[in-house]
Amino acid sequence: MRLKKTLPVLVTLVLAGIVSTGTFAQSQTSTQSPVNVTSGAIRSDPSQPKLDVTYGHTELELKYIRKDTASASGCTVRNHEETEEAEVVPGSGYVTVAGVRYDLVQFHFHTPSEHRFSGHAFPLEMHLVHRSADGKLLVIGVPIEAGPKSVVDEVLATLSPECGEPVEVPDIDLNRLVPSTHYTLHYNGSLTTAPFTEGVSWYLTTPLTATSATLARFKAEFPEGNARQVQPLNGRTFSGVPII
Ligand SMILES: [Zn+2]
Repeated sequence: MRLKKTLPVLVTLVLAGIVSTGTFAQSQTSTQSPVNVTSGAIRSDPSQPKLDVTYGHTELELKYIRKDTASASGCTVRNHEETEEAEVVPGSGYVTVAGVRYDLVQFHFHTPSEHRFSGHAFPLEMHLVHRSADGKLLVIGVPIEAGPKSVVDEVLATLSPECGEPVEVPDIDLNRLVPSTHYTLHYNGSLTTAPFTEGVSWYLTTPLTATSATLARFKAEFPEGNARQVQPLNGRTFSGVPII
């Protein structure tokens, strides 16, 4: 008698456990960006397709991206989702992964870096945003540290003022935006600004450098930063993927 009575209770408890575990798992499965990259989450996966980068030359138009156009004081208040964005000439650069072409649309900057590396933030991070014909997004994230002058200094030589005219940047070689190590860490994440859409394919490179003066100029425009805080990994891993 005792067993018969206990069994349904036990089954109910187990089922309740599965249900609650299921609910728990569901609430934890968001795949948002940015994230903190830890060595323990890096996996070797030779089956990952390589990142085939075909970049050429382009002129740029550096624009201030406003997120507070409805506000009367919007021209002076810094929204943390605002940035300086360089628009490229269409067709000037693209990447191919597993036969799918993603065209470079624009690149922009965050201070400090949005991605962390073993908890470490870089002073700046560049996001090269690519889009496929069917609307899929692929972003190459490049951390930037203080050091010798680079193409980043050329791009950010004159910042576009909020509520002002865009800045024309003369011809640059897009290949110089990619660190020569040609090594990336790939993971699946999201946009780091609203609407935080998931399904974004991320490739994080080794750092580029920019001068302290350029880093300070950008930081002065966004004194409180324009980076989203790191999001839970939720079991995601990183794969080493070479650039070819
Ligand atoms: Zn970004």
